Amino acid sequence: MNGGNKRSRAIRSTVFALVICSGISFWAFSRHGALSIPEWVVFYTLSGLLVLAERSRIPIHAKADMTLEDVYLIGFSLAYPLYVVAWAGVAYALSTGIRYGKFWYTQVANAAGTVAVILFARSVYGLFSSAPSPSDPSWAASMLVFTLVFIVAHMAFFGLHLAVYVGMRDFRALWKETYPPQVLLVYCIEILLGVLLATVLHTAGLAGALLFTALVMLVAWSYRDYFKMARHFRALAITDELTGLHNHRYIHSKIDEWIEAKSEFALLMLDIDHFRRYNEIWGHVRGDDALRAVADILRANLLPGEEQARVSGEEFMVLLPNYDLAQAQLKAEVLRRAIESADFPGADQLPGRRMTVSIGVARFPEMARNKKELMVMVDEALYKGKFTGRNKVSLFESVLDEMKRDFALDHDDQEIIKTIQVFLAILNSKDRYTYAHTERDVVYASALAERVGLSAERLRYLRFGAYLHDIGKVEVPIEVLAKRGPLTHHEWQIMRSHVEIGENIAKPIPSLGPCLPIIRHHHERYDGTGYPDGLKGDDIPLEARILTIADSFDAMTTSRPYQRKRSMEEAFIELRRCAGSQFDPNLVEPFIEVVEEIGLLTESHEEDLA
Ligand code: GH3
Ligand code: MG
Ligand code: MG
Repeated sequence: MNGGNKRSRAIRSTVFALVICSGISFWAFSRHGALSIPEWVVFYTLSGLLVLAERSRIPIHAKADMTLEDVYLIGFSLAYPLYVVAWAGVAYALSTGIRYGKFWYTQVANAAGTVAVILFARSVYGLFSSAPSPSDPSWAASMLVFTLVFIVAHMAFFGLHLAVYVGMRDFRALWKETYPPQVLLVYCIEILLGVLLATVLHTAGLAGALLFTALVMLVAWSYRDYFKMARHFRALAITDELTGLHNHRYIHSKIDEWIEAKSEFALLMLDIDHFRRYNEIWGHVRGDDALRAVADILRANLLPGEEQARVSGEEFMVLLPNYDLAQAQLKAEVLRRAIESADFPGADQLPGRRMTVSIGVARFPEMARNKKELMVMVDEALYKGKFTGRNKVSLFESVLDEMKRDFALDHDDQEIIKTIQVFLAILNSKDRYTYAHTERDVVYASALAERVGLSAERLRYLRFGAYLHDIGKVEVPIEVLAKRGPLTHHEWQIMRSHVEIGENIAKPIPSLGPCLPIIRHHHERYDGTGYPDGLKGDDIPLEARILTIADSFDAMTTSRPYQRKRSMEEAFIELRRCAGSQFDPNLVEPFIEVVEEIGLLTESHEEDLA
């Protein structure tokens, strides 16, 4: 929140508070000028009790507290003239505001608002019953009216105040937090106690108020320990001990809740970069200090309605209600910069010379249909950031989004794209290498296609085809994908089937039609010994021939469990050696030229991942 925003909140709330206070005073004054001596006694007793009550909250439920102020106001308003209650209420609102220091206006507005609501409800009640006593026959009905008016007016007032204070954007989340359904129980108890107090006041006068207070306090006190304990355990269960943020359990239950309520939200997943190294250099104690410092930065940036937690070792999650992707990326960028620019002792020993985080961003519901998919998406986004240099904010998947934008896709197609997106994500979690590999293939293949003069339209399909070409591997078991030794005949059969499976996955989307041959034929060889159809020479679609070179070149220049990484020059020699057998000889030289221009896309650190 920026300073201007804070200031305008304060101004709005102050005006709100003062308007209510002067409204009540004006109303009370117009009702009755000066107070009589006995009325002054009531005034002092009530305002004194209210000020005292403001300091103690009485637990009713794990999620809802009661304050005795409402009870006193209700009781006194049923027993004494309303203008006396009004004056006492204003005195209480203003004097308790002092305790809140520079946020005095929030307390004054809340307190005076409650007074106004009760005066209003009591006036409506007065229209129905002149004798506020249970012995009056119409009493029950008028009490019911009082109760309803009180509850509705109270919620309306606090809703209004919340909206004035926080603005409409954060309103929903805060409203839910402030008004759990248990609040209705609190209202009912307050009203019943208020009626009890009024009855006592009728029979025993002000001394009755003291008796009543003593009784309520004693009962509340005897239950206090129980509630304290329950709260303590509840807090423990959802708090991360090290950082004081919420924990994994909490944030996951929030995600479940939000998905259940069909709320739209964005999710950030943060992972500290090179944290293992920081621990190794400085030890776990300093590592823990750094985690606390990161948590403090997150805390300082948390806006109302947002949720955050430390979900594991050095991973944090932030939930952003109603944020669209651009807003979420912006928020992530703010956090990333805040951490990057903070001073962490000894961080100069890290590869980036600073403590940094990588942040993945995903959004519900567009990017995922359920929590599992959402988690896969955000994890992949984070991983993409890790893979492409760290200290950055990343979204999962850009090419598919581009596809969604470029083609006029109907609802069914959108759903299929979503499925493809999830397939890709699953594939990537099975075989980490594939993701970056696919991205690099897209770059190499497009560069070659441009060099050989492929039309813009065909280039576009080539990019999507290159993006999807390995998607069929989603069906290949992980043991086969990640096997270090040579594959058995049967395993080869399975591995080879990925081209056809991939084609079948993309087939249902008519707009992807032109990509299908690229997916199907990217393992054909120029001499006709490839698969699945053994096509030869120019029978293999040009796009597939282009992709084959890009794909093979990237495989050669990346280290894999079963092969050593080759240098660019070694790979060129290999490409030339296989020109005419595996590769289209007319494409090899242009490919070598473009790679010499754009350079190798693999970086040394990727070796760790193989
Ligand atoms: P990357 O940039 O890829 O994220 O590298 P990394 O070293 O951060 O890798 P990873 O995310 O796998 O790091 C996990 C490390 O975080 C392992 C451990 O050293 C450290 N860690 C996990 N939990 C704690 C903790 O509670 N306290 C401390 N001090 N360190 C922890
Ligand atoms: Mg980690
Ligand atoms: Mg890490």
